[in-house]
Amino acid sequence: MSNAEIGLIGLGTMGAALALNIADKGFDIAVWNRTGTVTQDFAAGAGDLASKITATDTLEDLVAAIAKPRAIILMVPAGQPVDDQIAALRPLLDDDDMIIDAGNALFHDTNRRAREATGPFLGIGVSGGEEGARFGPSIMGGGKREYWDRVAHVLEAISAKYEGTPCATWMGEEGAGHFVKAVHNGIEYADMQMIAEVYGIMRDGMGMDADAIGKVFEGWNNGPLKSYLIEISGAVALAKDTSTGTPMLDMIVDAAGQKGTGRWTVIEAQQLAAPIPAIEAAVVARNLSSRVGERAAGEDLFGAAPQPIDGALDLAQLEGALIAGKVLCYAQGFTMIEAASEAFGWALPLPDIAKVWREGCIIRSDMLNDMAAALAEDPDRNLMYADRFADYLRGNHAALRAVVAVGATHGVAMPSLASGLAYFDAMRTARGTANMIQGQRDYFGRHGFVRMDNGAKDQHGPWAD
Ligand code: NDP
Repeated sequence: MSNAEIGLIGLGTMGAALALNIADKGFDIAVWNRTGTVTQDFAAGAGDLASKITATDTLEDLVAAIAKPRAIILMVPAGQPVDDQIAALRPLLDDDDMIIDAGNALFHDTNRRAREATGPFLGIGVSGGEEGARFGPSIMGGGKREYWDRVAHVLEAISAKYEGTPCATWMGEEGAGHFVKAVHNGIEYADMQMIAEVYGIMRDGMGMDADAIGKVFEGWNNGPLKSYLIEISGAVALAKDTSTGTPMLDMIVDAAGQKGTGRWTVIEAQQLAAPIPAIEAAVVARNLSSRVGERAAGEDLFGAAPQPIDGALDLAQLEGALIAGKVLCYAQGFTMIEAASEAFGWALPLPDIAKVWREGCIIRSDMLNDMAAALAEDPDRNLMYADRFADYLRGNHAALRAVVAVGATHGVAMPSLASGLAYFDAMRTARGTANMIQGQRDYFGRHGFVRMDNGAKDQHGPWAD
Protein backbone atom coordinates (compact mmCIF):
# COMPACT_ATOMS: atom_id res chain seq x y z
CA MET A 1 0.00 0.00 0.00
CA SER A 2 1.68 3.22 -1.08
CA ASN A 3 -0.90 5.95 -0.79
CA ALA A 4 0.14 8.18 2.09
CA GLU A 5 0.54 11.80 1.00
CA ILE A 6 3.54 12.32 3.26
CA GLY A 7 5.79 10.48 5.73
CA LEU A 8 7.25 11.48 9.10
CA ILE A 9 10.19 10.16 11.10
CA GLY A 10 10.56 10.91 14.82
CA LEU A 11 7.44 10.65 16.99
CA GLY A 12 8.75 12.66 19.94
CA THR A 13 6.98 15.72 21.34
CA MET A 14 7.00 17.69 18.10
CA GLY A 15 6.83 14.86 15.58
CA ALA A 16 3.81 13.18 17.18
CA ALA A 17 1.93 16.49 17.39
CA LEU A 18 2.81 17.39 13.80
CA ALA A 19 1.72 13.95 12.54
CA LEU A 20 -1.67 14.28 14.27
CA ASN A 21 -2.06 17.78 12.83
CA ILE A 22 -1.33 16.48 9.32
CA ALA A 23 -3.85 13.64 9.74
CA ASP A 24 -6.37 16.08 11.22
CA LYS A 25 -6.18 18.20 8.07
CA GLY A 26 -7.23 15.17 6.01
CA PHE A 27 -3.87 13.93 4.70
CA ASP A 28 -2.89 10.28 4.91
CA ILE A 29 0.44 10.03 6.70
CA ALA A 30 2.91 7.19 7.25
CA VAL A 31 5.08 7.36 10.38
CA TRP A 32 8.16 5.64 11.74
CA ASN A 33 10.13 6.04 14.96
CA ARG A 34 13.53 4.66 15.95
CA THR A 35 12.04 3.01 19.02
CA GLY A 36 9.26 0.83 17.63
CA THR A 37 7.06 0.78 20.74
CA VAL A 38 6.71 4.56 20.45
CA THR A 39 5.25 4.10 16.96
CA GLN A 40 2.77 1.51 18.16
CA ASP A 41 1.74 3.61 21.18
CA PHE A 42 1.32 6.63 18.93
CA ALA A 43 -0.94 4.73 16.51
CA ALA A 44 -2.93 3.21 19.37
CA GLY A 45 -3.51 6.66 20.87
CA ALA A 46 -4.52 8.38 17.61
CA GLY A 47 -8.26 7.89 18.23
CA ASP A 48 -10.45 9.08 15.35
CA LEU A 49 -7.37 9.96 13.31
CA ALA A 50 -6.05 6.38 13.30
CA SER A 51 -7.55 5.67 9.87
CA LYS A 52 -5.37 8.43 8.34
CA ILE A 53 -2.16 7.08 9.91
CA THR A 54 -0.02 4.18 8.70
CA ALA A 55 2.35 3.10 11.47
CA THR A 56 5.42 1.30 10.09
CA ASP A 57 8.07 -0.88 11.73
CA THR A 58 10.96 -0.34 9.35
CA LEU A 59 12.28 2.48 7.18
CA GLU A 60 11.62 0.26 4.14
CA ASP A 61 7.97 -0.11 5.16
CA LEU A 62 7.73 3.65 5.69
CA VAL A 63 9.06 4.37 2.22
CA ALA A 64 6.75 1.75 0.67
CA ALA A 65 3.72 3.35 2.34
CA ILE A 66 4.16 6.79 0.75
CA ALA A 67 2.88 7.85 -2.70
CA LYS A 68 5.54 8.89 -5.24
CA PRO A 69 7.20 11.31 -5.56
CA ARG A 70 7.61 10.96 -1.81
CA ALA A 71 8.05 13.64 0.84
CA ILE A 72 9.29 12.64 4.29
CA ILE A 73 9.57 14.96 7.29
CA LEU A 74 12.36 14.40 9.83
CA MET A 75 11.52 15.54 13.37
CA VAL A 76 14.58 14.33 15.28
CA PRO A 77 17.16 16.23 17.35
CA ALA A 78 19.33 18.67 15.41
CA GLY A 79 22.91 17.73 14.51
CA GLN A 80 24.28 14.25 13.95
CA PRO A 81 20.88 12.48 14.25
CA VAL A 82 19.69 14.38 11.17
CA ASP A 83 22.78 13.43 9.14
CA ASP A 84 22.47 9.80 10.29
CA GLN A 85 18.80 9.66 9.42
CA ILE A 86 19.39 11.16 5.99
CA ALA A 87 22.20 8.65 5.37
CA ALA A 88 19.91 5.76 6.31
CA LEU A 89 16.92 7.02 4.34
CA ARG A 90 18.33 8.40 1.11
CA PRO A 91 19.45 5.04 -0.37
CA LEU A 92 15.86 3.78 0.00
CA LEU A 93 14.39 6.71 -1.94
CA ASP A 94 13.93 7.51 -5.62
CA ASP A 95 15.82 10.43 -7.13
CA ASP A 96 12.90 12.83 -6.93
CA ASP A 97 11.79 11.89 -3.40
CA MET A 98 12.17 14.72 -0.90
CA ILE A 99 13.56 14.86 2.64
CA ILE A 100 12.33 17.72 4.85
CA ASP A 101 14.28 18.50 8.03
CA ALA A 102 11.73 20.18 10.31
CA GLY A 103 13.88 20.22 13.48
CA ASN A 104 15.84 23.17 14.83
CA ALA A 105 18.91 22.73 12.62
CA LEU A 106 21.76 25.22 12.62
CA PHE A 107 21.30 26.92 9.25
CA HIS A 108 24.92 26.31 8.26
CA ASP A 109 24.16 22.58 8.54
CA THR A 110 21.08 23.05 6.37
CA ASN A 111 23.19 24.92 3.79
CA ARG A 112 25.60 21.99 3.73
CA ARG A 113 22.87 19.34 3.58
CA ALA A 114 21.13 21.17 0.73
CA ARG A 115 24.41 21.31 -1.23
CA GLU A 116 25.33 17.69 -0.51
CA ALA A 117 21.82 16.31 -1.08
CA THR A 118 21.53 13.77 -3.87
CA GLY A 119 17.78 14.44 -4.07
CA PRO A 120 15.31 17.18 -3.16
CA PHE A 121 15.87 18.61 0.33
CA LEU A 122 14.09 21.27 2.37
CA GLY A 123 14.98 22.73 5.78
CA ILE A 124 11.96 24.17 7.56
CA GLY A 125 11.81 25.98 10.89
CA VAL A 126 8.71 25.11 12.92
CA SER A 127 7.69 27.27 15.88
CA GLY A 128 4.92 27.03 18.41
CA GLY A 129 5.99 24.22 20.72
CA GLU A 130 3.89 21.08 21.07
CA GLU A 131 0.54 22.85 20.97
CA GLY A 132 1.55 24.80 17.88
CA ALA A 133 2.73 21.65 16.14
CA ARG A 134 -0.60 19.96 16.95
CA PHE A 135 -2.98 22.78 16.10
CA GLY A 136 -1.09 25.24 13.88
CA PRO A 137 2.58 26.19 13.99
CA SER A 138 4.38 29.00 12.20
CA ILE A 139 6.52 27.50 9.42
CA MET A 140 9.60 29.09 7.83
CA GLY A 141 10.75 27.22 4.74
CA GLY A 142 14.17 27.03 3.09
CA GLY A 143 15.40 25.23 -0.02
CA LYS A 144 14.62 25.33 -3.70
CA ARG A 145 11.31 27.09 -4.37
CA GLU A 146 10.11 24.20 -6.56
CA TYR A 147 10.57 21.79 -3.64
CA TRP A 148 8.63 24.09 -1.32
CA ASP A 149 5.84 24.35 -3.91
CA ARG A 150 5.52 20.56 -3.97
CA VAL A 151 4.57 20.38 -0.28
CA ALA A 152 3.24 23.91 0.34
CA HIS A 153 -0.39 22.68 0.27
CA VAL A 154 0.29 20.38 3.26
CA LEU A 155 2.44 22.90 5.18
CA GLU A 156 -0.05 25.72 4.64
CA ALA A 157 -2.96 23.49 5.67
CA ILE A 158 -1.34 22.52 8.98
CA SER A 159 0.03 25.98 9.79
CA ALA A 160 -1.53 28.61 12.02
CA LYS A 161 -3.76 31.14 10.26
CA TYR A 162 -3.77 34.89 10.83
CA GLU A 163 -7.19 36.14 9.72
CA GLY A 164 -7.26 33.26 7.23
CA THR A 165 -3.72 33.74 5.91
CA PRO A 166 -1.48 30.67 6.46
CA CYS A 167 1.61 31.28 8.59
CA ALA A 168 3.80 29.15 6.34
CA THR A 169 6.16 30.92 3.97
CA TRP A 170 9.14 30.11 1.79
CA MET A 171 12.02 32.30 2.94
CA GLY A 172 14.71 31.48 0.41
CA GLU A 173 17.34 28.98 -0.65
CA GLU A 174 19.13 26.40 1.47
CA GLY A 175 19.20 27.32 5.18
CA ALA A 176 17.11 30.52 4.89
CA GLY A 177 14.15 29.00 6.78
CA HIS A 178 16.30 27.72 9.62
CA PHE A 179 18.12 31.06 9.77
CA VAL A 180 14.84 32.96 10.16
CA LYS A 181 13.76 30.44 12.83
CA ALA A 182 17.02 31.07 14.73
CA VAL A 183 16.44 34.84 14.73
CA HIS A 184 12.87 34.18 15.86
CA ASN A 185 14.32 32.29 18.82
CA GLY A 186 16.82 35.09 19.53
CA ILE A 187 13.96 37.60 19.68
CA GLU A 188 12.06 35.13 21.85
CA TYR A 189 14.98 35.02 24.32
CA ALA A 190 15.04 38.83 24.59
CA ASP A 191 11.25 39.19 24.83
CA MET A 192 11.19 36.60 27.65
CA GLN A 193 14.17 38.17 29.42
CA MET A 194 12.66 41.67 29.38
CA ILE A 195 9.44 40.30 30.87
CA ALA A 196 11.48 38.51 33.54
CA GLU A 197 13.36 41.74 34.33
CA VAL A 198 10.12 43.66 34.84
CA TYR A 199 8.86 40.75 36.96
CA GLY A 200 12.02 41.25 39.08
CA ILE A 201 11.15 44.91 39.72
CA MET A 202 7.61 43.97 40.72
CA ARG A 203 8.74 41.10 42.97
CA ASP A 204 11.90 42.50 44.56
CA GLY A 205 11.49 46.24 44.09
CA MET A 206 7.76 46.61 44.73
CA GLY A 207 7.26 43.59 46.99
CA MET A 208 4.34 42.25 44.92
CA ASP A 209 3.32 38.63 45.25
CA ALA A 210 2.90 36.27 42.31
CA ASP A 211 -0.89 36.69 42.21
CA ALA A 212 -0.66 40.47 41.96
CA ILE A 213 2.05 40.18 39.31
CA GLY A 214 -0.05 37.70 37.32
CA LYS A 215 -2.97 40.13 37.30
CA VAL A 216 -0.72 42.94 36.05
CA PHE A 217 0.40 40.76 33.12
CA GLU A 218 -3.24 39.88 32.43
CA GLY A 219 -4.04 43.59 32.27
CA TRP A 220 -1.12 44.35 29.97
CA ASN A 221 -2.36 41.64 27.64
CA ASN A 222 -5.28 43.94 26.76
CA GLY A 223 -2.97 46.73 25.54
CA PRO A 224 -0.09 47.26 23.11
CA LEU A 225 1.87 44.39 24.71
CA LYS A 226 -0.81 41.84 23.79
CA SER A 227 1.15 38.72 22.95
CA TYR A 228 1.46 35.03 23.70
CA LEU A 229 4.48 35.60 25.98
CA ILE A 230 2.69 38.21 28.13
CA GLU A 231 -0.37 35.94 28.24
CA ILE A 232 1.58 32.91 29.46
CA SER A 233 3.63 35.02 31.89
CA GLY A 234 0.34 35.94 33.55
CA ALA A 235 -0.79 32.31 33.58
CA VAL A 236 2.56 31.16 35.01
CA ALA A 237 2.46 33.79 37.78
CA LEU A 238 -1.14 32.91 38.72
CA ALA A 239 -0.66 29.11 38.79
CA LYS A 240 -0.49 27.29 42.15
CA ASP A 241 1.67 24.32 43.02
CA THR A 242 -0.79 21.46 43.47
CA SER A 243 1.22 19.83 46.27
CA THR A 244 1.84 22.90 48.47
CA GLY A 245 -0.73 25.44 47.28
CA THR A 246 1.96 28.13 47.00
CA PRO A 247 2.50 30.04 43.75
CA MET A 248 4.21 27.68 41.29
CA LEU A 249 6.58 30.47 40.25
CA ASP A 250 7.98 30.69 43.77
CA MET A 251 8.84 26.98 43.68
CA ILE A 252 10.93 27.14 40.47
CA VAL A 253 14.73 27.35 40.69
CA ASP A 254 15.95 30.53 38.94
CA ALA A 255 18.29 28.82 36.47
CA ALA A 256 17.11 29.07 32.85
CA GLY A 257 17.69 26.23 30.40
CA GLN A 258 18.45 26.59 26.71
CA LYS A 259 18.92 24.40 23.68
CA GLY A 260 21.36 26.67 21.87
CA THR A 261 19.34 28.52 19.22
CA GLY A 262 19.75 31.85 21.03
CA ARG A 263 23.51 31.24 21.19
CA TRP A 264 23.60 30.46 17.45
CA THR A 265 21.79 33.73 16.74
CA VAL A 266 24.27 35.74 18.78
CA ILE A 267 27.33 34.05 17.23
CA GLU A 268 25.92 34.67 13.76
CA ALA A 269 25.12 38.29 14.58
CA GLN A 270 28.76 38.81 15.50
CA GLN A 271 29.86 37.23 12.20
CA LEU A 272 27.49 39.56 10.34
CA ALA A 273 28.50 42.60 12.47
CA ALA A 274 24.77 43.03 13.15
CA PRO A 275 24.13 44.84 16.47
CA ILE A 276 21.58 42.86 18.53
CA PRO A 277 22.60 43.82 22.10
CA ALA A 278 19.22 43.11 23.77
CA ILE A 279 19.29 39.57 22.36
CA GLU A 280 22.94 39.06 23.30
CA ALA A 281 22.19 40.24 26.83
CA ALA A 282 19.31 37.76 27.07
CA VAL A 283 21.58 34.85 26.14
CA VAL A 284 24.20 36.05 28.63
CA ALA A 285 21.47 36.31 31.28
CA ARG A 286 20.52 32.65 30.76
CA ASN A 287 24.15 31.58 31.01
CA LEU A 288 24.58 33.65 34.14
CA SER A 289 21.37 32.33 35.71
CA SER A 290 22.75 28.81 35.72
CA ARG A 291 25.58 29.89 38.09
CA VAL A 292 23.32 29.39 41.08
CA GLY A 293 26.06 28.61 43.60
CA GLU A 294 28.30 31.47 42.54
CA ARG A 295 25.42 33.92 42.82
CA ALA A 296 24.65 32.72 46.33
CA ALA A 297 28.34 33.07 47.24
CA GLY A 298 28.30 36.60 45.78
CA GLU A 299 25.33 37.53 47.96
CA ASP A 300 27.16 36.20 51.04
CA LEU A 301 30.25 38.20 50.11
CA PHE A 302 28.73 41.55 49.11
CA GLY A 303 25.31 41.40 50.75
CA ALA A 304 22.03 41.56 48.89
CA ALA A 305 21.48 44.74 46.87
CA PRO A 306 19.07 47.31 48.40
CA GLN A 307 16.16 46.23 46.21
CA PRO A 308 12.92 47.84 47.54
CA ILE A 309 12.28 50.84 45.33
CA ASP A 310 9.91 52.69 47.70
CA GLY A 311 7.50 54.12 45.13
CA ALA A 312 10.20 55.19 42.69
CA LEU A 313 8.28 53.60 39.78
CA ASP A 314 4.67 52.85 38.93
CA LEU A 315 3.19 50.02 36.91
CA ALA A 316 2.51 52.27 33.91
CA GLN A 317 6.25 52.97 33.68
CA LEU A 318 6.97 49.24 33.74
CA GLU A 319 4.49 48.69 30.91
CA GLY A 320 6.03 51.57 28.96
CA ALA A 321 9.53 50.16 29.47
CA LEU A 322 8.40 46.81 28.10
CA ILE A 323 6.74 48.45 25.08
CA ALA A 324 9.94 50.36 24.23
CA GLY A 325 12.12 47.33 24.95
CA LYS A 326 10.01 45.12 22.72
CA VAL A 327 10.19 47.54 19.80
CA LEU A 328 13.96 47.80 20.17
CA CYS A 329 14.50 44.04 20.41
CA TYR A 330 12.39 43.33 17.30
CA ALA A 331 14.11 46.18 15.45
CA GLN A 332 17.45 44.51 16.22
CA GLY A 333 16.20 41.11 15.05
CA PHE A 334 14.95 42.47 11.74
CA THR A 335 18.14 44.42 11.05
CA MET A 336 20.05 41.17 11.60
CA ILE A 337 17.81 39.43 9.07
CA GLU A 338 18.43 42.24 6.61
CA ALA A 339 22.19 41.96 7.14
CA ALA A 340 22.07 38.19 6.51
CA SER A 341 19.90 38.66 3.46
CA GLU A 342 22.58 40.84 1.91
CA ALA A 343 25.56 38.78 3.12
CA PHE A 344 24.14 35.45 1.92
CA GLY A 345 22.38 36.75 -1.20
CA TRP A 346 19.02 35.43 0.01
CA ALA A 347 16.53 38.29 -0.58
CA LEU A 348 14.78 37.39 2.68
CA PRO A 349 11.20 38.78 2.58
CA LEU A 350 11.12 40.94 5.74
CA PRO A 351 7.40 41.87 5.63
CA ASP A 352 6.47 38.20 5.06
CA ILE A 353 8.65 37.18 7.99
CA ALA A 354 6.72 39.56 10.26
CA LYS A 355 3.50 38.11 8.81
CA VAL A 356 4.50 34.49 9.36
CA TRP A 357 5.21 35.30 13.02
CA ARG A 358 1.75 36.82 13.62
CA GLU A 359 0.24 33.48 14.64
CA GLY A 360 1.39 30.04 15.73
CA CYS A 361 4.87 30.90 16.96
CA ILE A 362 6.09 31.77 20.45
CA ILE A 363 6.68 35.47 19.68
CA ARG A 364 3.25 36.02 18.14
CA SER A 365 1.89 39.39 19.15
CA ASP A 366 -0.38 42.17 17.98
CA MET A 367 2.60 44.39 17.25
CA LEU A 368 3.82 42.04 14.51
CA ASN A 369 0.93 43.01 12.25
CA ASP A 370 2.01 46.66 12.40
CA MET A 371 5.62 45.58 11.91
CA ALA A 372 4.63 43.73 8.73
CA ALA A 373 2.96 46.91 7.44
CA ALA A 374 5.97 49.08 8.34
CA LEU A 375 8.41 46.67 6.69
CA ALA A 376 6.20 46.50 3.58
CA GLU A 377 6.49 50.31 3.30
CA ASP A 378 10.28 50.19 3.53
CA PRO A 379 12.07 46.91 4.25
CA ASP A 380 15.48 48.63 4.45
CA ARG A 381 14.51 51.05 7.23
CA ASN A 382 15.22 50.13 10.85
CA LEU A 383 11.80 49.45 12.41
CA MET A 384 12.51 51.91 15.22
CA TYR A 385 12.37 54.75 12.67
CA ALA A 386 9.02 53.69 11.13
CA ASP A 387 6.20 56.08 12.15
CA ARG A 388 4.23 53.71 14.36
CA PHE A 389 7.30 52.43 16.21
CA ALA A 390 8.97 55.82 16.45
CA ASP A 391 5.74 56.92 18.17
CA TYR A 392 5.97 54.01 20.59
CA LEU A 393 9.57 54.98 21.38
CA ARG A 394 8.80 58.69 21.73
CA GLY A 395 6.01 57.81 24.14
CA ASN A 396 7.90 55.23 26.19
CA HIS A 397 11.66 55.74 26.14
CA ALA A 398 11.45 57.93 29.25
CA ALA A 399 9.75 55.04 31.06
CA LEU A 400 12.42 52.63 29.85
CA ARG A 401 15.10 55.05 31.09
CA ALA A 402 13.42 55.43 34.48
CA VAL A 403 13.07 51.67 34.93
CA VAL A 404 16.69 50.96 33.95
CA ALA A 405 17.91 53.82 36.20
CA VAL A 406 15.92 52.61 39.20
CA GLY A 407 17.06 49.04 38.54
CA ALA A 408 20.67 50.27 38.56
CA THR A 409 20.34 52.27 41.77
CA HIS A 410 18.44 49.49 43.55
CA GLY A 411 20.45 46.50 42.44
CA VAL A 412 17.81 44.81 40.26
CA ALA A 413 19.73 43.46 37.26
CA MET A 414 18.09 44.24 33.92
CA PRO A 415 20.58 43.36 31.21
CA SER A 416 18.20 43.22 28.24
CA LEU A 417 16.24 46.38 29.01
CA ALA A 418 19.49 48.26 29.73
CA SER A 419 21.02 47.00 26.48
CA GLY A 420 17.87 48.00 24.61
CA LEU A 421 18.13 51.49 26.07
CA ALA A 422 21.82 51.78 25.17
CA TYR A 423 20.94 50.75 21.60
CA PHE A 424 18.20 53.39 21.47
CA ASP A 425 20.54 56.11 22.72
CA ALA A 426 23.32 55.08 20.35
CA MET A 427 20.92 54.98 17.39
CA ARG A 428 19.66 58.51 18.11
CA THR A 429 23.09 60.09 18.55
CA ALA A 430 24.46 61.66 15.39
CA ARG A 431 27.91 62.28 16.88
CA GLY A 432 28.95 59.41 19.10
CA THR A 433 32.27 58.68 20.77
CA ALA A 434 33.96 56.37 18.27
CA ASN A 435 36.23 59.30 17.33
CA MET A 436 38.08 58.46 20.56
CA ILE A 437 38.35 54.81 19.47
CA GLN A 438 39.70 55.90 16.12
CA GLY A 439 42.20 58.21 17.81
CA GLN A 440 43.37 55.38 20.05
CA ARG A 441 43.63 52.97 17.12
CA ASP A 442 45.64 55.45 15.13
CA TYR A 443 47.87 56.21 18.11
CA PHE A 444 48.90 52.62 18.76
CA GLY A 445 48.53 51.07 15.32
CA ARG A 446 48.55 53.85 12.68
CA HIS A 447 45.13 52.57 11.53
CA GLY A 448 44.14 56.01 10.20
CA PHE A 449 40.88 57.94 10.50
CA VAL A 450 38.51 60.08 8.46
CA ARG A 451 38.62 63.88 9.12
CA MET A 452 35.43 65.67 10.16
CA ASP A 453 36.15 68.91 8.28
CA ASN A 454 37.01 67.65 4.78
CA GLY A 455 36.17 63.89 4.75
CA ALA A 456 39.78 62.99 3.93
CA LYS A 457 40.49 59.30 4.60
CA ASP A 458 43.56 57.50 6.03
CA GLN A 459 44.55 60.50 8.11
CA HIS A 460 46.92 60.36 11.08
CA GLY A 461 47.17 62.46 14.24
CA PRO A 462 50.16 64.50 15.44
CA TRP A 463 51.17 61.53 17.62
CA ALA A 464 52.25 59.75 14.42
CA ASP A 465 55.53 61.66 14.50
P1 NDP B 1 11.98 14.69 21.46
O1 NDP B 1 13.15 14.43 22.30
O2 NDP B 1 10.65 14.77 22.11
O3 NDP B 1 11.90 13.57 20.32
C1 NDP B 1 13.00 13.22 19.57
C2 NDP B 1 12.59 12.22 18.52
O4 NDP B 1 13.73 11.96 17.70
C3 NDP B 1 12.14 10.88 19.09
O5 NDP B 1 11.14 10.38 18.24
C4 NDP B 1 13.41 10.05 19.03
O6 NDP B 1 13.16 8.67 18.87
C5 NDP B 1 14.02 10.57 17.76
N1 NDP B 1 15.47 10.43 17.75
C6 NDP B 1 16.35 10.83 18.68
N2 NDP B 1 17.59 10.55 18.30
C7 NDP B 1 17.49 9.94 17.11
C8 NDP B 1 18.45 9.40 16.22
N3 NDP B 1 19.75 9.47 16.49
N4 NDP B 1 18.00 8.83 15.07
C9 NDP B 1 16.67 8.77 14.81
N5 NDP B 1 15.73 9.25 15.62
C10 NDP B 1 16.13 9.84 16.75
O7 NDP B 1 12.31 16.02 20.65
P2 NDP B 1 11.32 17.16 20.13
O8 NDP B 1 10.17 16.54 19.45
O9 NDP B 1 11.07 18.17 21.20
O10 NDP B 1 12.27 17.91 19.07
C11 NDP B 1 12.49 17.42 17.75
C12 NDP B 1 13.09 18.55 16.94
O11 NDP B 1 12.15 19.64 16.93
C13 NDP B 1 14.38 19.11 17.52
O12 NDP B 1 15.23 19.53 16.49
C14 NDP B 1 13.90 20.31 18.31
O13 NDP B 1 14.91 21.26 18.50
C15 NDP B 1 12.81 20.81 17.39
N6 NDP B 1 11.81 21.67 18.01
C16 NDP B 1 11.32 21.40 19.26
C17 NDP B 1 10.38 22.25 19.82
C18 NDP B 1 9.79 21.96 21.17
O14 NDP B 1 9.08 22.84 21.69
N7 NDP B 1 10.00 20.79 21.76
C19 NDP B 1 9.88 23.45 19.11
C20 NDP B 1 10.41 23.59 17.78
C21 NDP B 1 11.35 22.74 17.27
P3 NDP B 1 13.18 7.63 20.09
O15 NDP B 1 11.76 7.48 20.52
O16 NDP B 1 13.73 6.41 19.50
O17 NDP B 1 14.07 8.20 21.16
